[in-house]
Amino acid sequence: REIDLPSFLHDIIDRHEMLEKENIELKRQLPETKILVQLDTDKMTQVLDNIISNAMKYSPEGGTITLSAGKVGRKVKVSISDQGVGIPKNNVSKIFDRFFRVDKARSRDIGGTGLGLAIAKEIILAHGGEIWAESEWGQGTTIHFTLPLRKAKEASA
Ligand code: ATP
Ligand code: MG
Repeated sequence: REIDLPSFLHDIIDRHEMLEKENIELKRQLPETKILVQLDTDKMTQVLDNIISNAMKYSPEGGTITLSAGKVGRKVKVSISDQGVGIPKNNVSKIFDRFFRVDKARSRDIGGTGLGLAIAKEIILAHGGEIWAESEWGQGTTIHFTLPLRKAKEASA
């Protein structure tokens, strides 16, 4: 389905703001112009729900999560940043592996199966995009993903 990505992201953030009881601020850096993309909205909702709930789980009380989006060339890039515990450098690329969780002890208290990001990666790849993480242990984490922009219509002569 062809949808406007910024409005879609606003709706997702609105829902998280209604639901989350934690004292964590969700900041939006979204363009005011439309960005049309082809999306399976149910699957993309699942991707964003997992990334946002991870950011919440691993953020301190009073932290800020920033969701930004914008065009980069022929793609649109979405980034979700938190100021949480971060991920050790040698583990950053592994978080997209099935059942991988940083520090079993820490994760056991927090809960989860370690599948969320593996599923997110599958969905993003199926959309023709890419997903990766950037993190500084103790500083925070950013998950980035891209999606291809709608193909430009053939120029009419
Ligand atoms: P599930 O999503 O299946 O409920 P999960 O959240 O543990 O379980 P993933 O979403 O796949 O699984 O994340 C894998 C692991 O990556 C997490 O267990 C955690 O160790 C680490 N991780 C993911 N996001 C963050 C983040 N924002 N900050 C710190 N660590 C993170
Ligand atoms: Mg998760």
